[in-house]
Amino acid sequence: MRAVILTDDRPNLAVTTLDDPVPGVGEVLLRVTGCGICGSDLHVASQMAPPGMVLGHEIAGTIEELGPSVDADRWKPGTVVAARPFAGCGHCAQCVRGRADHCMEFALVGMARPGGFAELTTVRADELFALPASIPAIEQALVEPLAIARRAVRRAALVPTDTVAILGAGPIGLAIAAWVRHLGVERILVSDPAPIRRDLAGRLGASTILDPSAGPIEPGVFEAFGWDGPTVVFECTGRPGLIRQAMDLTVVEGRVVVVGVCLQDDVTFPYTGLNKELDVRYSLYYGREDYTATIDALDAHALDAAGMVTETVDLEQLPERFARLRTDTDGGKIVLQP
Ligand SMILES: [Zn+2]
Ligand SMILES: [Zn+2]
Repeated sequence: MRAVILTDDRPNLAVTTLDDPVPGVGEVLLRVTGCGICGSDLHVASQMAPPGMVLGHEIAGTIEELGPSVDADRWKPGTVVAARPFAGCGHCAQCVRGRADHCMEFALVGMARPGGFAELTTVRADELFALPASIPAIEQALVEPLAIARRAVRRAALVPTDTVAILGAGPIGLAIAAWVRHLGVERILVSDPAPIRRDLAGRLGASTILDPSAGPIEPGVFEAFGWDGPTVVFECTGRPGLIRQAMDLTVVEGRVVVVGVCLQDDVTFPYTGLNKELDVRYSLYYGREDYTATIDALDAHALDAAGMVTETVDLEQLPERFARLRTDTDGGKIVLQP
């Protein structure tokens, strides 16, 4: 099969030909129909995955073949599915409750085992979610990032009367905006320095849009929400200093949800959290219910998910496009269609 792998010259990727993967016990072989490129893939490529790995964890595909002991009544070749990119032991308490990411044997598909930047990949059958025909091809690969966002919104315990600020309008910030809007929140502020992303945020329902590169955002935030500030702030950038800023912006007894991936030390001012009695929560990955809720919402056309996608690429185009992501931070979701 054709595939894109991480080269020895990391974080660069290259197209190559590999043997077709063979599904192991409890796994299926998928023909990949779509795989989103994720901001976290940049971290995976630069320091987390070994050279030679096939990246890509936002996987949708068609079942090609069942491995040993997969329930043949439940899963049929030809079924279109989204795959949660989890591989755990399958029987510990964390795996049983659907959070294999906390399993001692956890391997993330697309980082610790081959993922979706290929024509074919293998995934665990118990991490598959069948997709109804109502979900168009371009949206099938968006189930994963939308499920990330749905989990973050769930962590915020959001109610329609909340007022929300979202720092960062990359695909996860945008997906959070779509969910927040879907849940009935009307006052949604999004801040991002990139023009295309600010534009997408407006289309996905943001009521106030700020450019943090034009100066401090505090005046704009307080103009939008009054001096109290928003009741919930989502930190979706992973940039140092932004958890502190989120805590500064949030109303007394408000909630901060940290979704951005920051891989370095960062400083907060604990007294801000103490003084306001803030809840600062972290959100990573998703439960099974976040996948099923996302699929239901897409089936009902309740989320403008396709509006997040600004580009599709094929396998040949992927390495060059991926390299440009390191410097070009403006744009929406890019989906690989092998
Ligand atoms: Zn992702
Ligand atoms: Zn386990």
